[in-house]
Amino acid sequence: MRIVALEEHFAVPELVGRIDRNAIAQRGFPPPDAPWGPGRKREELRELGAARLADMDAAGITVQVLSVSGPGADLVAGEAGIALARDHNDALARTVAGHPDRYRGFAHLPMMAPAAAADELERAVSWLGFHGALINGVIGGRFLDDPAFDPILERAEALDVPLYLHPGIPPQSVRAAYYDGLPGALSYILSTAAWGWHIETAVHVLRLVLSGALDRHPRLRLIVGHMGEALPFMLARCEQTLGGEAVNHLQRSVSETILEQVWITTSGFFTVPPFLATLLTFGADRILFSVDHPFAPNSRARAFLDQLPVSPADREKIAHGNADRLLKLPS
Ligand code: ZN
Repeated sequence: MRIVALEEHFAVPELVGRIDRNAIAQRGFPPPDAPWGPGRKREELRELGAARLADMDAAGITVQVLSVSGPGADLVAGEAGIALARDHNDALARTVAGHPDRYRGFAHLPMMAPAAAADELERAVSWLGFHGALINGVIGGRFLDDPAFDPILERAEALDVPLYLHPGIPPQSVRAAYYDGLPGALSYILSTAAWGWHIETAVHVLRLVLSGALDRHPRLRLIVGHMGEALPFMLARCEQTLGGEAVNHLQRSVSETILEQVWITTSGFFTVPPFLATLLTFGADRILFSVDHPFAPNSRARAFLDQLPVSPADREKIAHGNADRLLKLPS
């Protein structure tokens, strides 16, 4: 069975080295040697050769759609950020060119310069053959519904490529109010992979709906990972409470907009109950297999795919059919 995974990460340490260390720390990244931080995956993130391919082979994963794991160009203002994003994308394009049947790319964007980010998205799609862009959380504390980012939404819609809204570390004010003060690594872990950044990503989607941004860009397609970042579980509640006059400015109900414009990946989730909520809420046409490599193991994600309680036809859709269509992958 062809299997496409689309929340699969890499990093180029030499490029990360160009980012101001203070900016990285301020954004909330733990020190590079912290045993709980992304630094622990440094070697796996940088490896794009035989070892990564062998691990994909062992799990039967055909294609990884690769994206930059933070810290990245969204922390760097001006020309330096623009150049950093471009260099990341050029490096990824060289990797993809070496194994075009195994690797594909999502663009990395200089989010602090939205007009340049839109141009870089176009360059990455039109010239490098990438299939969309992945964005790591808030940018300077702002979500994509901020009008400053409209050029990026507009360009993605015009290019007919999706934006993958990936989690990022919550802003400092949120960490202070909600998560600080727990023992050891717990404040960081609760604010990120255990809870906080997942809920923040759902907030991101809801803000794009409630601001009217998705009504203004009705053909824009969003992907969110981690079995829908709690949206499948919460969507009926949102529909029930976010109605009436408060949403008179919107053309569709909250759930209509989300079910028309959002796709879900299974990244990092390997149990059936959240999958069933996603299947029953979004349907098999909206669910795409992903691993979240190297933060989750390929083998476990593959075993989970094999045991999903779905028909063979739906398993094929989730494994590759939906991704092939959404990303227009050559298959
Ligand atoms: Zn991820």
